[in-house]
This record gives sequence, C-alpha cells and structure tokens, in this order.
Amino acid sequence: MGSVALFEAAKSIRDWSINEGRTATTPGRAVEAFASLVFNDKVQQERLPKPVYTALRGTITRGEPLDAASADAVAAALKEWAVEHGATHYTHWFQPMTGITAEKHDSFLVPMPDGTAITEFRGKELIKGEPDASSFPSGGMRSTFEARGYTAWDPTSPPWLHVSGSSATLVIPTAFVSWTGEALDKKTPLLRSMEAVSKQAVRVLKLFGSTAERVFATCGPEQEYFLIDRNFYFARPDLINAGRTLFGARPPKGQEMEDQYFGSIPERVLACMAEVELELFKVGVPVKTRHNEVAPSQYEIAPVFENANLAVDHQMMTMETLRGIAPKYGLACLLHEKPFAGVNGSGKHNNWSISDEFGNNLLGPGDTPHDNMQFLVFCAAVIRAVDKWQGLLRASVASAGNDHRLGANEAPPAILSIFLGDMLTDIFEQIEKGAAKSTKHGGTLDIGVSVLPKLPRDAGDRNRTSPFAFTGNKFEFRAVSSGQNISFPNTALNAAMAESLDSIASELEGAIAKGEDLATAVGRLLTKIIKAHKRIIFNGNNYAPAWEKEAARRKLLNLKNTVDALPQLVTRETLQLFDKYRILNERELHARYEVFLENYNKTVNVEANLMVLMANRYILPAALAYQKDVAQSVAAVRSAGGSTVQGKRLLGGYTRLVDGFKAQTDALERRLDHNSASAEKHAKYMRDKVIPAMSRLRELGDRIEVLTPHELWPLPTYREMLFVK
Ligand code: ADP
Ligand code: MG
Repeated sequence: MGSVALFEAAKSIRDWSINEGRTATTPGRAVEAFASLVFNDKVQQERLPKPVYTALRGTITRGEPLDAASADAVAAALKEWAVEHGATHYTHWFQPMTGITAEKHDSFLVPMPDGTAITEFRGKELIKGEPDASSFPSGGMRSTFEARGYTAWDPTSPPWLHVSGSSATLVIPTAFVSWTGEALDKKTPLLRSMEAVSKQAVRVLKLFGSTAERVFATCGPEQEYFLIDRNFYFARPDLINAGRTLFGARPPKGQEMEDQYFGSIPERVLACMAEVELELFKVGVPVKTRHNEVAPSQYEIAPVFENANLAVDHQMMTMETLRGIAPKYGLACLLHEKPFAGVNGSGKHNNWSISDEFGNNLLGPGDTPHDNMQFLVFCAAVIRAVDKWQGLLRASVASAGNDHRLGANEAPPAILSIFLGDMLTDIFEQIEKGAAKSTKHGGTLDIGVSVLPKLPRDAGDRNRTSPFAFTGNKFEFRAVSSGQNISFPNTALNAAMAESLDSIASELEGAIAKGEDLATAVGRLLTKIIKAHKRIIFNGNNYAPAWEKEAARRKLLNLKNTVDALPQLVTRETLQLFDKYRILNERELHARYEVFLENYNKTVNVEANLMVLMANRYILPAALAYQKDVAQSVAAVRSAGGSTVQGKRLLGGYTRLVDGFKAQTDALERRLDHNSASAEKHAKYMRDKVIPAMSRLRELGDRIEVLTPHELWPLPTYREMLFVK
C-alpha cells in the first residue's frame, strides 16, 4: 500500500511536469490583480454617493454609527458591484470559537409575484445576519433554547468576492455575538482589545505632545506549513483526521544536512505557491515573501503587516487558500504544528507593533532624543506587559498541537521571555542604574534634552530561539502555532499592553500634574519598570537546558503543556484585566477557557482512537503477515536441514515486539474508556494517562516499521512523504 501511494505520487509529479509544468501560462500581473476582488476604499469612493462615503469613512475610522439610509446605500452599491462581478450570493463570514471560519450563503435573488425575480440587498442584511448558531461552541454561554446568534458587519475589514469555479460569493466579514450581546467569536474581543490599546496609547502619546487620536495594533504573521504529495496524504488516516502523523519512524536522512532552508523551491511547489499568492492578491492580501523552511517539504509565506484586525482576517484567508489550492497541484497542505515527529514543527511568527493614525510606528527608535524617550517608554510598556502577563500570553497559544512544539527543543520553549538584543539591553541596564549615558555601539550621545541616549537605528543582532523577540521596530511573538487563528494571541497582547500603558500614563500624568518635567518623570519610571521586570529579558539560547534552571531562579512561569497553561485564562487577575478594558466579561472569558479545554480533550481523544484504529487495521495485520513469512521461512530452512539460528532470533525478537504492540494497543483502548467529573479533570487524565500510553504505542509501532518489509508496510513512510516532491 505504501508503495502504491509512492507510485501514484511519482506519477502525479511526472504528469504535472509533462502537462502543467510545460504549458504554464504567462503569470498574471500582480499589480493589476491586487485587490481586484475587494470592495476597498477606492471602489467605495467611486461607487458611493459622497455623503454616504463620508458617513462610511466615519464608521470605519472613528467607529461612528452608520444611519439606516447610508447603510441601505452602501448595501445597494455593494450588491451592484458584486453582481457585476458575477456574484449570486452573499455570506456573513465569521470566526467562531472553533478556530476556523464559518459562513452561510444567501442568494441576492428575490422572486416576484409575476414569476420573475430581482436581486436585492438591504442595509439591514448587510449589517446583521442571523445564522443558526446552535452548533457552534459557546463554552456554555448559550443553551440551545436561546440558540440565536447574530453576525454583525465589521466595516473596518472590506468585503471581497470569493470566486470558486463558476461561482462568486460576496463575503462580508462579521463579528458573531449571542442574543444577549456576548461575544461568541474571535473577532469581537480582538476589536475590543484594539480599542483598549488605542485609548491607553493615546494617553501616553498626548504626554509627548502628539495629536493622534487613534492608535492601531499592527500585525504581520509569518505562516509556516508543509506541502506533501496528496497521494501520501490520502494513504494516511492520521493525516486526514488528525492533521499529523501518529506513527512514523524517523527517516535515515532528516534535516541534519541543512540543505532545505532557503534552498531552491521545487517546481511544482513553486507553481502552487504562485497560484496561492495570485489568489490572495486578488482578495487584497498583501503577500510578500516565500521561502523554504528548515524541515524538508516545509515552507513559509508572509505578508506585509497591516492593522491587526485586517491581518487576522487575511491570515485566515491565507490558511484557507493554501489548503484550497494545494490539491490542484496534487499536493496537500499541512498546517498542523507538528505533522512529523522528530522533524521541525510549524509556527506562526506573529510580528506585532503599534502605530498611530499617522502611521508612526511606536516601537521604532526615532531620530531625536525626544523620539527616543517615547520609544523607550513604549518598549518598557511591552517589557512590563510580557512579564506581568506571561501566563496569559502562554495560555493564548496553548493547544494539544502546540504542546508538541513549545519546549520540544526546536521551537521557543514554554517559558515566556523577551529578547531585546545587546544594544537595547545595555541601554536598559544603564537606565536601571539611574541614567543612560551612552550607547554601546558608539551611537551619538545626546543628553541635551533628557537623560536618555540617542539610539542607532538598526538594533542589529538576531536571535532565533526567543519566544518574544525585538527585531528592530516590532516584536515577534514566535510561540504562536501554525494552525491557530492568531486573533486570540493578539487580543491577549493588546490586553496586556493596554494595562501596561494605562499604568504608565497614570504615573506620568500624576508626576506632570505635580510639576515634574516629562524627561525626569520618564527617567524615573523607566528605572522603576526595568528594576521590576528585567527578569523577563533573556538574550541567550532559549533551547539550552541551563535556561530552564535560570528561568526557575527568576521565578518565570514554565507551563509545559496546555493543561498547565489554560488556567491562566481564568485567574482573578486575568478575568479582571479583560473585564476592566471591556474585552471579555467573566462569562465570555470563562467560555473561551471551556472551549479550549474541550478542544484539547477532543483532539487527544480523536488522536488516541485513530492510533487504536491504525494499530489494529494497518500495522498489526502487516506485522502478523511478516511474522508468518518469517515463521514459514524458518520452517522451510529447518526442513531443508539449514541453520535456523538467525531466523529464529529474528522471529523471536519480532514476535515479542508485535505481542507488546498488541498489548499496548489494548491498554490504550482501555484507557480511553473513562469518564471524568469535569473537563479539567479529564484534560489532566488525557495528559497523564492517555498521552503517555500513545507515546509508548508509537514507539513500538515505529520499531516494527523499520523491521517490516517495504512491500508489506501499509502506510507511506516519512522518507517518502518528506522527500518525494
Ligand atoms: P524579519 O526579517 O525581522 O522577520 P521582515 O521585514 O521580513 O523582518 O518582517 C517579517 C514580518 O514582520 C513581515 O510580515 C512584516 O510585514 C512584519 N512587520 C514589519 N514591521 C511590522 C510592524 N511595524 N508591525 C507588525 N508587523 C511588522
Ligand atoms: Mg521573522
């Protein structure tokens, strides 16, 4: 069977290079394609009456309510534009707590009494939808008798057309809330968190004389993923149902040759990437970079950063497009955090910053001492936020899948820390001692205005092992996982930052009210912050075992798995944080906790059941067949009078292994038959009883694999899946 998939894979690669590879059409012009399917600002200007356009801009940029007449006018223009482009339906697109997106399509068509039909789309349909919400997870917030949920138009993310084959659908990004107004989705809390961070950042900016009234969290997520031949994918029940391999011996050649990273991209993969990018361009996703990643058959795609709300929508569209286009090239896209054990996993490096409404990046060092003072304040706010809210940030990326990655000696460890780089660390060290007098790399010293030094622009150095790294003008949250919706990690970051900026603004405002000058107040504040929070700064190797010890000494949290991390979401402090800044109330946050826990339990349960299935229906039959072959061979050799010493040794060893495998399969199956008093208890049971049993079963299965003949092995191997491309 394994060899059938291999044969089919080879054939599909050959067919591709004979057909598509040769007859490739001239590439589309990216500039013309870009946003051609988006109802963006330009189209809005062209198609909306001036007063309507102005009203809509007010809604988008300042959150002003849109009156009913304007909403009708926007809906009418939107429909006209969509229908001109061939759309027959519209959908309210939303991000329920499942982690994927959901949509329900409605036709524009309205039948008339005379037997004809017209198209119609009114403001109220644009603004509000009512999907049957009962089967989306609500974390206990909503019982089925009050199952109604609403989707509410998010005007800050422009509608686009989803074209598939000959159908086109107008997609309207929406928030999803319950009958009582509670957030049932991932977009609502993100928008609220952006509001919170904006409000607090503006207070700080005012102290520095800025006239900005709004600040935006910005985000540029780098997506890692695997592409493997689809024939292999179909031959692996674990990939189909769990997104990762549950068995599989390590290949003789792994990633040790380091010949993959940034290497040339295989032709078929490149063609697939190019189509993904073109499709993303059309719907306005500003994809920028592509390259090979560290592991064989692993790649990365990254956009230009955007306002975080838009970036999240675009990130979801990127994942959907990758999954959707890959099959056209005979490929399967794996977005799981750890599709292959022993091979690098995939993350989503979440580049994050904040910028004012004029586009000034608040985490970029400036040119003047005054700018630098402001930069250091925002930078200190991040340091304080990450230290104070490390548990929340850790929990925001916790999942069964990410548990294979964090702390698994390749990805950032489960301990949150910040990489600042030598230059900034040095400056903060000087600040800690009272005042910074110079910059380490010979930057000019300017203390005319303040006690702070002038910063050179390029912070220079790099670190690949930190979970939260300063990279010159932004922070990169690297613990985020490849498969997850990045909305919640960004919500958590914004929440933490809002609290930090609030505290800083209050302190500075107080000092200034007492007549202190800004520079002195800032100097004192920075010293205080760095003294209290410097433990979070670590510039060394985060993979080194010594770091774990050092982190323990510093009393940093080391929450090694989802079960340990998730309770951080519902600590008194976190609940208050989210409530205070109106991001999620207690019920809403508790609901997330419930959903994440359930998700963990379900994921482990599905994986364990799949392992039992694969053990009984794939691996054992193959192993028993080989056992019989060897036994028959030994019998035949004996009757021919030959030596059976080695044959018997092989048979004995193999038989013991297979017996052990069967016993372990049954043991795992028995463990799955278990009820717990609560989801928390069950999660602990899964972690402590089920996952270790899965690991033991896998180890035995993988040992059987390397002893069993290729032609009998029913599953594509790592060597085939990762290297045939
Ligand atoms: P690096 O080499 O440090 O990873 P890149 O310039 O390649 O830097 O950027 C990586 C990602 O960071 C890109 O998606 C980019 O758009 C994003 N990024 C750059 N600046 C910002 C910012 N101010 N806010 C958020 N993301 C940013
Ligand atoms: Mg990067």
